[in-house]
Amino acid sequence: SGRKDSRSLKVTAMSFDNIGGQERAKNELVEALDFLVRPDAISKFGIRPLKGILLTGPPGTGKTLMAKASAHYADAVFIGVSGSEFVEMFVGVGAGRVRELFKDARQRAVKEKKENAVIFIDEIDVIGGKREGGQQREYDQTLNQLLTEMDGLYADQTPRILVMAATNRKEMLDSALLRPGRFDRHIQVDMPDKKGRRHILDLHADNKPLADDVNLDRIAEETFGFSGAQLESVLNEGAIYAMREQADLISTAHLSQAIDKVLMGEKSDRETNQ
Ligand code: ATP
Repeated sequence: SGRKDSRSLKVTAMSFDNIGGQERAKNELVEALDFLVRPDAISKFGIRPLKGILLTGPPGTGKTLMAKASAHYADAVFIGVSGSEFVEMFVGVGAGRVRELFKDARQRAVKEKKENAVIFIDEIDVIGGKREGGQQREYDQTLNQLLTEMDGLYADQTPRILVMAATNRKEMLDSALLRPGRFDRHIQVDMPDKKGRRHILDLHADNKPLADDVNLDRIAEETFGFSGAQLESVLNEGAIYAMREQADLISTAHLSQAIDKVLMGEKSDRETNQ
């Protein structure tokens, strides 16, 4: 049934239903987002508005997907950037780009008649790493501007802006970023367990012709330690092997070959990085 559901969802934007596994993270996110989509309730209780959510966890586990699904859930415009886009710029340019980013988000929300905007900053550690020794002056200005923008967000502003950020090195982040009123909600996105892997395989197998001998449960078992991104690769590489052989369907053998290839790829990446 999972397969059928995801097919009908494919035409719509990225939603939580397109993310395999990660049930705990998804639930925590939805709970947090309900603060954003129910501003009246939070002001009734005098709850401080949610400004920042930090997604932490290893690469390829779906953090970017989660941010996009969050925007979809909150009926918000989505603007994604990477922390690395702010480096190697002349002094002052990074801070200017941060200002532009928030301005852009507001303008797009107004233009698209949305009450909410989600700004997603991947690799936040690049601009928000611990400030030590006074070297990284340019990053400082960029980070300061981000903090200033976040401090200037209020619940009764329209459009409301939620800043989401992702990192796989939470311990590297400057504590100024983690203070209350900034990124004070942390959601851990883990490597998928077997059930999660099966779910991710189902989602990505949806548009692929699999042979009857393919047992996705078995493949979920054999891919212990694989991220969502790696599982997506397994199915994609498997499809490529099938196409090369001019087979009609993707078989277990194609997928086994693909698993090996993804494992090898990881290994050679690691070797070249050392
Ligand atoms: P990084 O830290 O490297 O930026 P990430 O955690 O943001 O990674 P995504 O960019 O969201 O990971 O995922 C990369 C791709 O892997 C997705 O486009 C999708 O194809 C696949 N993927 C990863 N996790 C999942 C998941 N839970 N469900 C379905 N697909 C997934």
